[in-house]
Amino acid sequence: MNKPVDTDLSLDLGLSWRNSFAALGPDFYTPLQPTPLPAPHWVAANPALARELGLDEAWLASPAALEAFTGNLGIAGTQPLASVYSGHQFGVWAGQLGDGRAILLGEAQTPAGAQEFQLKGAGLTPYSRMGDGRAVLRSSIREFLCSEAMHGLGIPTTRALCVTGSPAPVYREEAETAAVVTRVAPSFIRFGHFEHFAARDQLGPLRVLADYVIDHFYPECRTSDRYDGNPYAALLDAVAARTAAMVAQWQAVGFCHGVMNTDNMSILGLTIDYGPFQFMDAFIPGHICNHSDPGGRYAYNKQPNIAYWNLFCLGQALLPLIGEQELALAALEPYKALFPRELEARMRAKLGLATAHEGDRELIETIQKLMAAGAVDHTIFWRRLSHAVAGGDFEPVRDLFADRAGLDAWLATYTPRLAHEPAGQAAGLMLRTNPKYVLRNHLGEQAIRQAKLGDFSEINTLLALLQAPFDEHPGHDAYAGFPPDWASSIEISCSS
Ligand code: AMP
Ligand code: MG
Repeated sequence: MNKPVDTDLSLDLGLSWRNSFAALGPDFYTPLQPTPLPAPHWVAANPALARELGLDEAWLASPAALEAFTGNLGIAGTQPLASVYSGHQFGVWAGQLGDGRAILLGEAQTPAGAQEFQLKGAGLTPYSRMGDGRAVLRSSIREFLCSEAMHGLGIPTTRALCVTGSPAPVYREEAETAAVVTRVAPSFIRFGHFEHFAARDQLGPLRVLADYVIDHFYPECRTSDRYDGNPYAALLDAVAARTAAMVAQWQAVGFCHGVMNTDNMSILGLTIDYGPFQFMDAFIPGHICNHSDPGGRYAYNKQPNIAYWNLFCLGQALLPLIGEQELALAALEPYKALFPRELEARMRAKLGLATAHEGDRELIETIQKLMAAGAVDHTIFWRRLSHAVAGGDFEPVRDLFADRAGLDAWLATYTPRLAHEPAGQAAGLMLRTNPKYVLRNHLGEQAIRQAKLGDFSEINTLLALLQAPFDEHPGHDAYAGFPPDWASSIEISCSS
């Protein structure tokens, strides 16, 4: 085993650290240092996020930062720890899980508010179970790019500051190499943190955790008079609302998470734990992106109901604090109406409809049926439709459909509907809503193949496109094209 990091040689990031999660006490985590990796090198950095966090961009490229974000050098003021949580995996209670390969460094005060820094792939923890505490280069590049792609799309997510790599071997199906992603979020608390203490009847820590989350992230729950003034029921309602909004955004952009276990559900409604995720190519409602999910529990069209199932688990975990089952059920109820409302609003925006009219729902359902029947490319359809509305030429949209008559019938309803919108605004709304660039599997794969050969330039190219996915980026149309034939043979499964 490697030596632990030398904390006397710690680095000053110039941030002030508060570490409020660490202050919760030992029930919630095990303090420990990352395990160093030999001969680290840069894989990718995110200067835009560095700026938001008030970090010096030049410093982010420094040798000291490379060591610190690989876990080889301590950062002054941090209190590294691995947190404990449990969860339901694929619908089954899995018992204790925890940060098996992620180490929370601490929480810094930044210009973007209080943000936790976490190293994913930083070595063994008491929660590693059968794992090795590491993450491989390929999955780290995917997490880095997708975090920023989601942020670029305006979808709540954990962020990624950088990826470092090491020649240290990591064994999956074959020998690969290690990498570390520095993730940033206001909190990495998951539904599973609550389930952990509820399952063990540890009501003291359960209350401490809920109070922490309310006080730091949902203070309005403390004073809400809804649910008989019960702050824990109000918390459940608020988490459900954020989750509904997040999943509606996933659906609208064709994003499949792939592993919506309760330990991968953020209490802040952030997209978290990027594994076998996929932005759909062809619009196939039952699409399964996770090779380890043959039953399709986490298929694209199941995500909204799975989110509700997960919220139900959270409700069960909060029940001892809420007190009455009726109140917990009442707090879960709004999701059922809220999710379709959120989704409809997103879909209307995709169609350029800023106002709501009778018949809109049918318009949405009909085009989705046509797209599914023809397995039409999701991203290309919506972008072409946006340009068609902008320029008046619908031929490129028609070219996507074998069922021309079906599409023409739909257009005959849709185009007059646009006349009810404020003049000239629909196209602008659509071009701001329907991205030109998403992180398709084959794009990630190309960047990964090059990175494995030591060339990381493709990651930067993708980062620039994905951080501004609604911009045209002249000269980069190939990144917005149809996937190559080999894309459908890419197989991505759970933790790697
Ligand atoms: P995931 O499927 O990535 O959400 O991981 C589920 C659980 O397994 C979490 O507790 C992770 O920390 C843990 N885990 C996943 N991969 C590893 C690994 N390579 N080493 C240790 N723990 C891991
Ligand atoms: Mg996870």
